[in-house]
Amino acid sequence: MAMFATRLDRARARMEADGVDALLLSVGSDLPYFSGYEAMPLERITMLVVPREGDATLVVPELEIPRVHERPDVFSIQGWGETQDPIAMIAALAGSAAHVAVGDHMWAGFLVDLTQAMPSTTFRRASTITSPIRSVKDAEEVERLRAASAAVDRIAARLQGGDIELVGKTEAEVSAELGRQIVDEGHDRVNFAIVAAGENAASPHHHAGDRVIRAGEVVLCDFGGTMVGDDGIGYCSDITRCVWTDGNPDRELLEAYAILHEAQAAGVKSATVGTPAQDVDRITRQKIVDGGYGSHFIHRTGHGIGVEAHEDPYIVEGNTQPLEHGHAFSIEPGIYIPGKWGIRLEDIVVASDSGPDPLNLVDHQLAVLG
Ligand code: ZN
Ligand code: ZN
Ligand code: ZN
Repeated sequence: MAMFATRLDRARARMEADGVDALLLSVGSDLPYFSGYEAMPLERITMLVVPREGDATLVVPELEIPRVHERPDVFSIQGWGETQDPIAMIAALAGSAAHVAVGDHMWAGFLVDLTQAMPSTTFRRASTITSPIRSVKDAEEVERLRAASAAVDRIAARLQGGDIELVGKTEAEVSAELGRQIVDEGHDRVNFAIVAAGENAASPHHHAGDRVIRAGEVVLCDFGGTMVGDDGIGYCSDITRCVWTDGNPDRELLEAYAILHEAQAAGVKSATVGTPAQDVDRITRQKIVDGGYGSHFIHRTGHGIGVEAHEDPYIVEGNTQPLEHGHAFSIEPGIYIPGKWGIRLEDIVVASDSGPDPLNLVDHQLAVLG
């Protein structure tokens, strides 16, 4: 497939510019993005060796070769048997590389073995090469992100419409139901389904537990998965919506939600091509500061999304990188009052030459049920 060859050409151009002689990709999202093959996360090593000059080779356990979709224009395959030394194979393929970039998610054990097999080589993170490439989505990738977003939008709409039972259920039960619907709606993997009721919602990454959801409280749901295409590459969804479980929302919470809603909308609107990522964070945050809740917005405004649920560009103070056409990221401000409640509102947005392109379109209000 020409797409993978093109992506590897881009990687080689960056390797050239950065003085990297070989790129080594193992478990993680870089490998499927650049080769269409996803390594099994096992003790047996899989590695795509990409010399800056010369052809790429996929070093793979012999027993997994049947899983590999052959792409001779992209890489050749070198299987290793149970009694062979794959580290020596990889070192030989990397040749006399002085500077090697290794996938950020490669297991530390493999990297330790490689440093011993290649004592005069310096190693660095592959993300310096792969992230700038992965973060800019082409039109087809945007459509795949849009399809994944539309799928979670349909689940959020059911949540807001009262079609997912909440009161009397535990957070864990609702989380499991969201997970089922994520798969039913076409995802291959559930990445997370945070369900946080009442005071638990004050913890942004609350782990859904035995807490029974009651009438008359806020429930924060943040969920997403990965939708894998025919080419073996998956794209992620990620959405947060909040509901109130009976007809009479807390006044303080309603006022805070109005501030949150305004902040999130301002953030989306500000996400134009050329705007530094940190400015989107600042514009979003300022609305919450002005509303009096600045000290309760305790995380960055957002993260990039693509083949990984969290990737570049991060929408955070200190990231001066200007947004580019094709950057996809979340805008997800939150307000968290410890011991009482928490609220967050999250959409995925793509920066485009024709303006911010929000992928999540389901209602942004606090849904009041009952
Ligand atoms: Zn998060
Ligand atoms: Zn989320
Ligand atoms: Zn997110």
